[in-house]
Amino acid sequence: MVQPAVVVAQPAVVAQPPVVVQPAVVVQPAAVVVAAPMALGGDIPMHSFCATCPSCHHVGMTYTERKTGKATHFFFIFLCLLTAGLLSCCAYILDYSKDYVHKCTACHTVVAVRKRM
Ligand SMILES: [Zn+2]
Repeated sequence: MVQPAVVVAQPAVVAQPPVVVQPAVVVQPAAVVVAAPMALGGDIPMHSFCATCPSCHHVGMTYTERKTGKATHFFFIFLCLLTAGLLSCCAYILDYSKDYVHKCTACHTVVAVRKRM
């Protein structure tokens, strides 16, 4: 008596290499530093100081420019009321009430602003 051959189909074991999911390489553009003023207020000195430029990363002394600000306009109104408008233009001529704008000596970017108000 011939017994039928029992064929057990076994799944073929195929060695598969492990799947390694690599994260996509994202090339990020160079960081764009917005040349925002470093700080505002009374902590900024009125004279030039050593600072790092947010734009070109130059480390060095700043130079200052004086710009008309809110304090200048209030000083103008104050002088108008006090002197009946005779000396009111002094608010814009004198640097007493103007803001100090510190700029980078290399790229002239605004590094810091000291505001009077
Ligand atoms: Zn700079």
